[in-house]
Amino acid sequence: MPIVRVALDVPLSTLFDYTVTEGVAVAIGQRVLVPFGRRQMAGVVMECVATTDVAPERIKPVTQALHDSAPLSAGLLDLLRFCSDYYRYPIGQTVLSALPVRLRSDKPVISKPVLSYRLSASGAALDLDTLPKRKVVQRRILAKLAEQPCNLAQLKALSATAGAQLKALMAEGWVESFSGPSIRSIRPSGYSGRTAGSIQRHTLDNAHILTSEQQLAVDAVTQSSGYACFLLHGITGSGKTEVYVHLMHEVLQRGGQVLLLVPEINLTPQLENYFRSRFPDVNLVSLHSGLSEGERLHNWQQAQLGAAQIVLGTRLSVFAEMPRLALIIVDEEHDSSFKQQDGLRYSARDVAIFRANQCGVPIVLGSATPSLESYHNAQSGRYRMLKLTGRALAEARLPAVRCININQTVMHQGISENLLREIQQRIERREQSLLFINRRGYAPVLMCTGCGWLSGCKHCAGKMVLHLNEQRLRCHHCGYQIRVPQACPSCGNADLHPVGSGTQRVESVLQERFPDARILRVDRDSTRNKRAWQIMREQIHANEVDILVGTQMLAKGHDFPALTLVGVLNPDSALYSSDFRAPEKLFAQLVQVAGRAGRADKPGEVIFQTEFPDYPLFRALQTHDFEGWAASQLAERKMAGFPPFVYQAMLRAEGKQENEVYRYLNDARSAAVALQHEVEILGVVPAALPRRANHLRGQLLIQATSRKALQQFLRAWQAQLDALPAAKLRCSLDIDPLEF
Ligand code: ADP
Ligand code: ZN
Ligand code: ZN
Repeated sequence: MPIVRVALDVPLSTLFDYTVTEGVAVAIGQRVLVPFGRRQMAGVVMECVATTDVAPERIKPVTQALHDSAPLSAGLLDLLRFCSDYYRYPIGQTVLSALPVRLRSDKPVISKPVLSYRLSASGAALDLDTLPKRKVVQRRILAKLAEQPCNLAQLKALSATAGAQLKALMAEGWVESFSGPSIRSIRPSGYSGRTAGSIQRHTLDNAHILTSEQQLAVDAVTQSSGYACFLLHGITGSGKTEVYVHLMHEVLQRGGQVLLLVPEINLTPQLENYFRSRFPDVNLVSLHSGLSEGERLHNWQQAQLGAAQIVLGTRLSVFAEMPRLALIIVDEEHDSSFKQQDGLRYSARDVAIFRANQCGVPIVLGSATPSLESYHNAQSGRYRMLKLTGRALAEARLPAVRCININQTVMHQGISENLLREIQQRIERREQSLLFINRRGYAPVLMCTGCGWLSGCKHCAGKMVLHLNEQRLRCHHCGYQIRVPQACPSCGNADLHPVGSGTQRVESVLQERFPDARILRVDRDSTRNKRAWQIMREQIHANEVDILVGTQMLAKGHDFPALTLVGVLNPDSALYSSDFRAPEKLFAQLVQVAGRAGRADKPGEVIFQTEFPDYPLFRALQTHDFEGWAASQLAERKMAGFPPFVYQAMLRAEGKQENEVYRYLNDARSAAVALQHEVEILGVVPAALPRRANHLRGQLLIQATSRKALQQFLRAWQAQLDALPAAKLRCSLDIDPLEF
């Protein structure tokens, strides 16, 4: 009887063997239902074998083969095997966590038919001019449907209210729905390169004539054959997106599929709509955690069938099945949201590179501030460097950047007088200002002037943040909160002072100074509901806001044409960090924020408030010198023996009992030393936040000068780690860790 080896969502690093009863058709990559312990579990068939070590009387048959979804391809299974091995994560959990939730469940999936919309006979006969002028959206929908049938997503690209307007049009009887794809028929055959017969025509609407740098970049990628990794290093506003669009267009014409990965925070409906509008007659699906389970399954299956020509997604979409994958793009490749911080701790960027290599297709990593890892690889020739050094719009100049030394100027609760005056001028000119501060709430900590008591969290090693509007102290690490005490809990003194600034405090200082200004605070507190952020964005665009106060939510991707001044209030705190990547992250973040200023015809200005205006980081920002900065950082990293010159793995442990945490880590360390591999084993130390939610946290770092040496060591070490008692601990191994 044939035997299949099945991946199951259990924390064991093995596959599980089952027999296949005659008459049951099981293929590799197929989902099956199997008995596990007392229950039935869904799993994925990884291999078919002839023999097994399991005793004949213990082996059980597959309960059912699920034919509700096409089997996973051999290529995807290989990719998942690689991830399981590289990231030291159980194969079953790796495979199952890469699938949409519905496909992990033991219930067969029922996919709802997708509806498309077209004009009815009366709708086709309708004269648009008889429709009232104010029904703009209805007119747009009818015009679009006159060209071709569309699905709801495509119509929503026309307007946010398309859903409601569509209902109205259907009620009139002008539009009807039908089940089936809206796009012209999709070729069933595999991706067949440049053969003449397979050419699909797409028009590239509203395309810009490329600048010569953009054209060089596009040509380099389209003329490459097979796998190649490109680093597209382009300053903000240099038109990287336009390069992506041209590359995508080229691939679509040849019948290929494109995977476009973007950071978590960037994948907004605006971005999705932008790409839809650039490729109006193309089936584009998005994949991200904001979708419902049903939508995710549907989009995933569209990709799997090859029906979706463009997959736009966050890190999890790197595992989307795409039979005709011909190009991968990773936008903002330096962004840390590409790294998953729990479970399978993968870097979607790195997995994407592996995948491109596996599929023999080009991959483009784009950024204004590449990660030092990628930059180093581009310099050493492993990747090909493509540069965009000028802004795409001739009139858009880079902002003027300057520093204000906070020790040599008058400060008003964290905002300098000079900066306030600049804001005043912007208000007078009806231009917008953005103040950036990386802390929400009113103040990072509350202090007693009598005894020096600080508002620490009783569950964590961190401080509780003062949220004055809500009269609360809140821990941003564990969520614990209390009412603001009337008096010091330690000495009874009633004189409690907020120390430092958060967004709420900045907002109130500005309100006092500019009572007539329209001030908008944008942080996770003020945008808890999705709609709120949408409305805020519209207000900003309509120039109904004078001053924006915000956290990193405001740093990325948004184009606000009236914004001409950006003030960064407290960048210095990152310079004290123990994380060796802190300066790199700060640089990237400040370039992003600075990029918000003066994107249109008005020149922008950026002001950093700092104690260290002569620090190389601020110098480099003032001269827009990423190259010089990166070179100095890489030299420092090389001296200090940090990545990209070494490869790292971090073992973390946390638990309620300090001695258990440290015993585990020390035993793990002894085991590592005893293996005598060519790796450097550092000491067991407390984590940067040594206590969180009443758990003590420790860590142990391993380094090696080659990836291979580290991997060999980890394989050997894993067996020993598995044997250590750790019942009451949460332990994890993090390969290429980003958090320290
Ligand atoms: P980046 O992603 O590099 O920050 P964008 O792709 O957003 O830059 O481009 C910045 C602006 O320049 C956009 O408004 C875009 O429409 C415009 N743009 C891009 N390429 C060109 C071009 N070749 N000619 C004219 N405008 C362009
Ligand atoms: Zn006190
Ligand atoms: Zn806490």
